[in-house]
Amino acid sequence: QPVLAVVGRPNVGKSTLVNRILGRREAVVQDVPGVTRDRVAYDAYWGGRKFTLVDTGGWEPDATGLQASVAAQAELAMQTADAVLLVIDATVGATATDEAVSKVLRRSKKPVLLAANKVDDDRLLADTASLWSLGLGEPHPVSALHGRSSGDLLDAILKALPEAPREGGGVSTGPRRVALVGKPNVGKSSLLNKLSGEERSVVDSVAGTTVDPVDSLVELDGETWRFVDTAGLRKRVNFAAGAEYYASLRTKTAIDAAEVAIVLLDAAEPISEQDLRVLTMVVEAGRACVLAFNKWDLVDEDRRHAMVRELERGLVRVPWAEKVNVSALTGRSVRKIAPALRTALASWDQRVPTGQLNAWLSDLIAATPPPVRGGKQPKVLFATQAGIRPPTLVLFTTGFLEAGYRRFIERKFREQFGFAGSPVRVNVRVRE
Ligand code: GDP
Repeated sequence: QPVLAVVGRPNVGKSTLVNRILGRREAVVQDVPGVTRDRVAYDAYWGGRKFTLVDTGGWEPDATGLQASVAAQAELAMQTADAVLLVIDATVGATATDEAVSKVLRRSKKPVLLAANKVDDDRLLADTASLWSLGLGEPHPVSALHGRSSGDLLDAILKALPEAPREGGGVSTGPRRVALVGKPNVGKSSLLNKLSGEERSVVDSVAGTTVDPVDSLVELDGETWRFVDTAGLRKRVNFAAGAEYYASLRTKTAIDAAEVAIVLLDAAEPISEQDLRVLTMVVEAGRACVLAFNKWDLVDEDRRHAMVRELERGLVRVPWAEKVNVSALTGRSVRKIAPALRTALASWDQRVPTGQLNAWLSDLIAATPPPVRGGKQPKVLFATQAGIRPPTLVLFTTGFLEAGYRRFIERKFREQFGFAGSPVRVNVRVRE
């Protein structure tokens, strides 16, 4: 999602214009006492497109004076955003500060838009022409208060912003796609049979071409699901050399084709390298994940105790996975699979609005700032959830964030917003 930063001196009507652009979809987040927010980000929509709007506040003169502080803010905005909107008070005209900012912005290779605000009536229109002198191109006269011409300004903004990249995973139409994966003999065929039989409704098999894998439509809990590449579950001749390679390739193909994976583990046996390889494939493909511990009928008290510690170590990469204990043999708890799939997919599809995300994040970072690196304190400027499927956060920072700190943010993000059953990616965009 592209980012637009709004800059301008105090009192030029920047906040009013921001609210006008947002259409008051997301009123300004309430300030939490003791927490300074010098940047707030929102989701903005216009003409069927979506972008992140960053309101750079804090243009108060600091020790270096108003001009220097404003110029520094503009510099930061320029580095962080895909385009910058400079707001000027048309009733005042260009001040020395506006000129200093314009000078900084002119050096940018990014598009800069100029809004001449407070043009509440036509008599002021002529004056806005003088703003060409700032060297930022055509001034867009607007009245944030009355809404005058803000549509034209928004059209110009959209033209300047790059198109948002396509969302991963694509649009899901039809039944949701499930991969049933796990090492040989863990019970995949048995479970698929149980699921289809028990619910009495394998709808039909979807025949592919000779090269395409064959999927099965299975009705579970009142919903039809597409189990992808179930032909791969059929017992086949074990072509000695390379058998394992082909099995693993088939697993990967199924995971890639799916939205959510049921990773089947043998509850009676310790977690193996092979299990972990399958889990890694799911995480790296960014798919939602349900862990099903099969053969639960074989698990006794001792085994259950042994499992607790084993899982803690074995599942460090997927503590967030949905878990169910089942027996494909007896049918125990197989009906819990569909709700677990739904939970995981809901998380995979979930998006936290930018305003809410930043309100939470600025408090988190104020309480626990990123560790100092090379004598410098990296600053997290703001964040957006850039995508879903899987949910992907992008943190805009002034410096590198250590992996440990990124994991901390992910953990806290999950505590705050959920996301059970889905991987969450935390990316960092450093602007130095
Ligand atoms: P696949 O290779 O993963 O498809 O595994 P299969 O479905 O062919 O099962 C392998 C073996 O495990 C078969 O002998 C099954 O009867 C047995 N099995 C599958 N699920 C269970 C279960 O829940 N409990 C027990 N005790 N055995 C199971």
